[in-house]
Amino acid sequence: MEQLILTLFLALFTLEFLIEFGLNELNLRHVRACWDSKELPDLFTGKMTADEYDKSVQYTVASGRFQRWSEVYDRLITLVILFAVLGSLDRFAGTVAQSFSLGWYGHGIIFCLAVGLVFIATSLPTDLYATFGLEAKFGFNKTTVRLFVADKLKGLVLGLLIGVPFLFVVLWLMQAMGDYWWLWAFAFITACQFLMIVIFPTFIAPWFNKFETLKEGEFRERILALANQIGFATSGIFTMDGSKRSAHSNAYFTGIGKAKRIVLFDTLIEQMTMDQGLAVLAHEMGHYKMKHIRRMLVVQAIFLFIGLYLLSMLLKAPAFFNAFGLTSSNHAALVLFSLVSGPATFFLGPLMNRLSRKHEYEADHFAAMTLRDGKPMEEALVNLTVKNLSNLYPHPWYSAYHYSHPTAVERISAIRQTVP
Ligand SMILES: [Zn+2]
Repeated sequence: MEQLILTLFLALFTLEFLIEFGLNELNLRHVRACWDSKELPDLFTGKMTADEYDKSVQYTVASGRFQRWSEVYDRLITLVILFAVLGSLDRFAGTVAQSFSLGWYGHGIIFCLAVGLVFIATSLPTDLYATFGLEAKFGFNKTTVRLFVADKLKGLVLGLLIGVPFLFVVLWLMQAMGDYWWLWAFAFITACQFLMIVIFPTFIAPWFNKFETLKEGEFRERILALANQIGFATSGIFTMDGSKRSAHSNAYFTGIGKAKRIVLFDTLIEQMTMDQGLAVLAHEMGHYKMKHIRRMLVVQAIFLFIGLYLLSMLLKAPAFFNAFGLTSSNHAALVLFSLVSGPATFFLGPLMNRLSRKHEYEADHFAAMTLRDGKPMEEALVNLTVKNLSNLYPHPWYSAYHYSHPTAVERISAIRQTVP
């Protein structure tokens, strides 16, 4: 039985690696081949200079090369942690808990935190290179070393403040609620997610960024008029100093019900015309209006429900633990399950991306219909593509697998087809 579990896991793990590694190579080759022909897509002629196109290809190639090695590195790290580190971490957590008389829960929480720390530490090299190597080379990175360190420390503190009580409750439910603990855990985790949606914008996000209400003026008036026209209740429009970390631009809204906030990155306001910015907002409100966000939350909740049920089954199978050299315990089950479930369900990623791309088309359509004009949305898409040096020619298999958004060319063509 142990042998079977191990073989199955390694087979899926390898399959996922081969698919992702292969797709990346395919994509790199495709981008270079398109570049050799030196032709911009029709939609971009006159909107992107040859220089910008060259730069976007270089950025794509550099990212792809980085992905090639980080993929290999991440896989190796995961295997080492799974087969060589988890067992000793568990014993270490047990010893620490014992010497401070922290009991079972202490043991479990220390173990989970230690695993988390090991993952943070091992991802530092790729993290540092991505920020200060790759992104900096193409002029995107604005993060200073000081800010990078501060962000990591704040993340750790937050992880402790939220993670410790959270783990305590989950471990307690597993211990105290009998066979149906997973139903209780499901209710608890779902409630926590809702709580996070409510407290994130007002209590957590301001710790990392400065938020200011968008100053009075034409832009603000037009956004409010748009929200009014769509029937989008909002508690305010804010700008965020995204430029302190990166030159990439964005806009989003957070919160639920009437407490929704619209957040615009300062980079977006700087890089876009008012019409384009408004189109981006109409697109975002479209996601809300068409219940995309709610639907995604429901899908995630279903996955969580099934996952927790499976976990409750695995908890009763000592072979699952033995296969990875661990003794069965609630905390080992949590960690093991979160590490193993990725490779076991990797095919769900592309399916979710497919759903997400469908939502993007719908939100684009919504924006164009609301503004009674497809042009601003098209221009915003071109603008975003050029400024972010996005890959104009991803390999179709690569984008089908990885892209949560269709390419700008696909989106603009769709707008032209469906908007009169
Ligand atoms: Zn969208």
